[in-house]
Amino acid sequence: MGIKTPYISEIAPDTYAINEFGLNAMFLCVGSERALLIDTGTGVCDLKAEVAKLTDKPYDVVLTHGHLDHAGGIGIFDKVYIHERDIEMAKNLTREQRQHYADTLGKMRGYTVYDYTTDDVWEWEKLPEFVTIDEGYVFDLGDRQLEVFFTPGHTAGSITLLDRKNRIHFSGDACNGNTLCLGASITTLLRSAEKIKALEPEFDQDFNGHIGYAGIPTCFSQKKTIRDDVITICKQILKGEAEVSEQAFLGGVSYGVNYGNARVVFNKNTPMVSEGEEPYPLD
Ligand SMILES: [Zn+2]
Repeated sequence: MGIKTPYISEIAPDTYAINEFGLNAMFLCVGSERALLIDTGTGVCDLKAEVAKLTDKPYDVVLTHGHLDHAGGIGIFDKVYIHERDIEMAKNLTREQRQHYADTLGKMRGYTVYDYTTDDVWEWEKLPEFVTIDEGYVFDLGDRQLEVFFTPGHTAGSITLLDRKNRIHFSGDACNGNTLCLGASITTLLRSAEKIKALEPEFDQDFNGHIGYAGIPTCFSQKKTIRDDVITICKQILKGEAEVSEQAFLGGVSYGVNYGNARVVFNKNTPMVSEGEEPYPLD
């Protein structure tokens, strides 16, 4: 018998990770006045019911980016906050895509731990109102604030959130042990990783959107070297010095580069520098 409901951990005071069957991790930050739900998952669990178990405060919903495993549950909310560059992606997600993803991770040992099927991926009732946010936007929860940082690379509109009071950074999929550069150039990803790196004095814990991935229900903060490792890999790629290996990915062939605790994955269409972007000053 597998786990039938999302696996919830209190990772810090009034801060919860909601693991939706190994498909993704969402986070709920509860303040003195309001709460903030970070991401909506794949749309398998009854997320509103899960949040209601944790707080009765009014709450906002913010998406770290528009991918199906983060924006897949938007269809029960009236309003979500998102960077404008990811709105189209979020709007156009289909139930079939979400089911395919849920099944893929289920087969990656998820089904041995969790009790769900692709029938549980629910149909959206409606589209929410999309409210755009950008660098510097602050969610004020009363006694704690979360600030938005624009960190494109994984997608064109990826953001991360910093809770200075509790010294927690929520990194979505922007910079982690398996960083997929799908929405911008390697140079853009490098600059985003450096932006997050510059915030390090302000956080002790860094939770990405996939803690408790597939069949491994753990809840750890990321290794401290992740930012440095992603930065090193991007610089190696830009210098043409990276040891690139091919891997099957998303129905095509992609390239992966490992260093330290991190891997960066990109494909042949990934530009090194985007149009109009200043090249990175490599030494
Ligand atoms: Zn993603």
